[in-house]
Amino acid sequence: MCFKEVMIVKIFRMTVLLFCAILLAATRGNSKNMMDGETQSQNDVTITYLQNDGVLISDGTHKVLIDAIFNFASGWINLNAAEAAKIINAQAPYDDIDLVLITHNHGDHYSPGAVNTHLSNNANTKLIAPPPVAANFSGTQIVNINPARGQSQALTVNGIEVEVLHLRHFDAFGNDFSGVQNFGYLVKIGGKNILHLGDVDMTVQNFQNFGLAQKDIDFALIPTFNAPAHFMTSHRDALNSQIQPANIIALHLLSGSITSIRQQVNSLYPGATIFTTPLQSVTITVTSVSNEEQRPERFSLGQNYPNPFNPTTTIEYELPLDSQVMLQIYNLLGQRIRTLLNQSQSAGMHSVVWEGRNDLGQTVSSGIYIYKIQVGSFTETHKMVFLQ
Ligand SMILES: [Zn+2]
Repeated sequence: MCFKEVMIVKIFRMTVLLFCAILLAATRGNSKNMMDGETQSQNDVTITYLQNDGVLISDGTHKVLIDAIFNFASGWINLNAAEAAKIINAQAPYDDIDLVLITHNHGDHYSPGAVNTHLSNNANTKLIAPPPVAANFSGTQIVNINPARGQSQALTVNGIEVEVLHLRHFDAFGNDFSGVQNFGYLVKIGGKNILHLGDVDMTVQNFQNFGLAQKDIDFALIPTFNAPAHFMTSHRDALNSQIQPANIIALHLLSGSITSIRQQVNSLYPGATIFTTPLQSVTITVTSVSNEEQRPERFSLGQNYPNPFNPTTTIEYELPLDSQVMLQIYNLLGQRIRTLLNQSQSAGMHSVVWEGRNDLGQTVSSGIYIYKIQVGSFTETHKMVFLQ
């Protein structure tokens, strides 16, 4: 090797080393940013209190309206007539609602005539309600859903994931309303999990089938009555074991007792927001610090729910790092029937819905199926049961 060749080799080695150093520095820079949670961008989600149990939830792209369409003064906390007319007639900002959710068949939660007017003025809107409410309506805007009490069903409507929980209506308010078909809704919007509980009974027994504690509920919208047996007193521990107290937003206030209820809620749920005035709104923003706290420590794949299922089921998984994710479904013969996901995703909690169809879009037959997640060298499988 002559001097010239030695120099070329040295220069080549130095170049390679320099390149590696730059690469290492760049990699370190990236991983530091990811640990800080600074690279995650999340949409803000705004919750606007309308009246009674009614809210408008928006992430800037999608809008969900819950228990808010009336044509009469409900006697609770009333929206002004001009705003109520905008909702009924589907005028801005209520002109492009993706999803209308109604919890149950009580007149202070919806009015059939007003809902019909809203739907006819808003062709894209879909409506989910318990059967006694849905029976008031017809047409393709109505989503037929009927989980048994204590059961839930997950589905995606107009791009919004929603889990419908059939819960018992409160029966500790002086009257026994336990026969009412009452739906709670876990709405996934803007990367947030928002639970709306309508007039739900807050006992452990009512919640126990749903595993709410595992569902990372960002905010729970709950009624706050002044009745002594309601969640405000005897059942608050049941609720706190399911949902972080700071993630509770209270609404549905009796107009005559706002001050005393606000004091009670403040002491029981420090950090909770209390809606007291129609059109009051709260914007949920995730800070970089809380992103880091929410980052899972390891890969994991959850058990699908509901299971057994029909027509849809939700599969949740956690990614500690930004990753390429493959999620596939196999039959018991080991044949792959569906690739649900094959894409890179950011670190955090994720979920995907399977609607019981194969890659050709055909509904599969009843039976046991296996779902498998593959993230780099990590794989995990679980079984699930589809019932036709
Ligand atoms: Zn009710």
